[in-house]
Parts: sequence; structure tokens; C-alpha cells
Amino acid sequence: MRKVSLEQKPRYISLPKHHDRVEIPRISPLHDSDTLTRDNWRNKETISHVNFSMSSDEMGENSVLNQCESPLMLRTGSMMPGITLDGEVFQLSKTEIFDAIIHILSCSALDNPNYLTIIKDSPNGTLQFILHFIEKKSCEQIYKERAVLLKCLYSSNMCSEKQKSNDVHMINLTGTLSTTWETCLDNEPSLYCAYECELCGSYITLLPVLTVDTNLILRKGFEALNEGLHFYHYLTKVKCQQEGCPEMCTVTAYPNFHICIYLDVRRNDRSHTKIQCKLQNFPKTLELKSLPGQYRLQGIVSESSDRTVAYCLRAEDHWELYDGYSMIVETFDSSGVINPCGAIYIRT
Ligand SMILES: [Zn+2]
Repeated sequence: MRKVSLEQKPRYISLPKHHDRVEIPRISPLHDSDTLTRDNWRNKETISHVNFSMSSDEMGENSVLNQCESPLMLRTGSMMPGITLDGEVFQLSKTEIFDAIIHILSCSALDNPNYLTIIKDSPNGTLQFILHFIEKKSCEQIYKERAVLLKCLYSSNMCSEKQKSNDVHMINLTGTLSTTWETCLDNEPSLYCAYECELCGSYITLLPVLTVDTNLILRKGFEALNEGLHFYHYLTKVKCQQEGCPEMCTVTAYPNFHICIYLDVRRNDRSHTKIQCKLQNFPKTLELKSLPGQYRLQGIVSESSDRTVAYCLRAEDHWELYDGYSMIVETFDSSGVINPCGAIYIRT
């Protein structure tokens, strides 16, 4: 869980528009105790100001599209030539999990006008990229925009080498669904947790993804996701997250408009392998304990042999497979077996 900040005299304001105006304390980043937090905030500031505009020179390069390819699919970075930005070449690799998130959230925005409206208001760079992707489809400019965004988000993963006359910058996105969501949707987490501490006052932590009770899922399967989800609207006696504070706090959790559930459910035997399931095993609606309203299943991020792919549940209630290596959208039977690493739901 990432610490956001602490303010001595908390002021009370509303959460962002989409939170039904629940009054919770406002905080501003005063101090952060670890490098990761500081880097994340710095990234956030950078990403909010990413400029996607391209010069006409840059637009003409890197022809990568095939007429037969699906217009709403991103080709995986390692299958593409380097992208030239301001005369420098960027080679992306391991973009599959990032692309899977983009594919699921793009389908969500296309199928759900409310979600589209919400992401239009978000300052998050990845969500803004999704709006551009829906508008412009898979094209050279979109691949440049992906490179611009990932260059900002993954600057610490970049390494450079001299090749012929150019410096080539390699950006490797190695990570899990959980770390990818945290990096790319840093200011649009799955959950906001409002802490009340007698010593420290009020502050908020962001929870990028939700997790599950793995023993319960192993026993009952993903059909029991509602029951097995680690979500509690109100908790007491939670240890204060501020460094060195011994107090126990009350915590109120506010789910965001989208929820990513990290599913690293492994067998309890020696193999320790991830469990398989069928797409139809996942509940199509999620109800969060003690809260009104529902969330609808939008997609599953899954590992498929040597790659990560996205299964998107479209409005017509059929599944589509998005694989950035094949570039052809295929309908997928809900009885097909998959290796899930996460599920994405959005508020209905
Ligand atoms: Zn405290």
C-alpha cells in the first residue's frame, strides 16, 4: 500500500467527481519516506503533462501497419521497430500487460458511455492515451504516443546503447499486472483508503489493486470471487501507516470507478503452479460488501503459453481475445480454459 501524505490540520473536500461526493479528508504530499513513493509522485506530475503532439517529420517514419490488422489492437512492443522521438530511437519490450490493460479499458469505454465520460475527466496519462487510441485507432501516431507515455512511466527501466549513428533506448516493462497497474494508473487506483489516526489526523492511502483469499478461491473456484475479495468498507484497529506511529486507526475504503483484482492464485502443492479456469467461472457482476451498486466484469488478463493476452467481455456478452502478436481479434468461447492473472471490473 502506497502512502500518500499527512497533513497536520486536515481539510475536508470531496473525492473526484465520480465518487458520489463522499466527504473525506484531503491531503497533499508533504513528505514521503521512500524513494518509490517519491518517484511515483514525480512520475505522476510528469505524466499529467505528457505532450502527445508529434512533428510532421516524426509521423512519416516507422511504417508498421498491415491493412488486415484489427484497428483496435496494439502490436506488442517487441514485434515493432524502434520508435523515433525527437531524433532518438526507443525500443519497447514486454508491453503485453500494459497493452492488455489498454485493450480491456478501451473496450470498456467503447461499450459503456458512463466509463467513457469518467475517463475523459481523469488527469491520468494512460486513460488519456486510451481516449486517443479509441479516436485514432492503431496507427503510427498511436505507437508514438505509446512510446512517449511509456518513456515517462518507465524512465527508471530505460537503458541506452550506441548503435551505428544513433543512441537506442531500450524500455523494458517487465512486471506483474499489479505493478503495471500501479505504475500506469497511479492516480486512478482500485481503492482509496481514508485513515483516521488519533495522533496523525486524517490521510489517504491508495491501493492500486485488490487481492483475494487464495485458500477460498482454491477451495471454491473463481465463482466465489465476491466472497473471496479482500474488500472491507469500514475497518477498526488497523495499524497506522505513518512511519513510527504506534496508533491503531479506523479505515474507510472507497472503491474507484474501475477495479483491478490481482489473481496470483497458486496450488498448495509442490508445483506451486497458477490455477486454470474457464472464462465463464468469473462472476459477471461484483458486489462490494456494505456498499450499494455493482461492478461489471470487463475483461481478464491471462497468461497464454509464452505471452500475456486480454479477454474482453463486450457489451453483447461475448468474449474477444486480444493478442498483440497475432493482431487479429478473435471471438473466444466462454468455456475455453485460461490462466488468469487478473480481472478488471467497472462500476455500472
Ligand atoms: Zn498515526
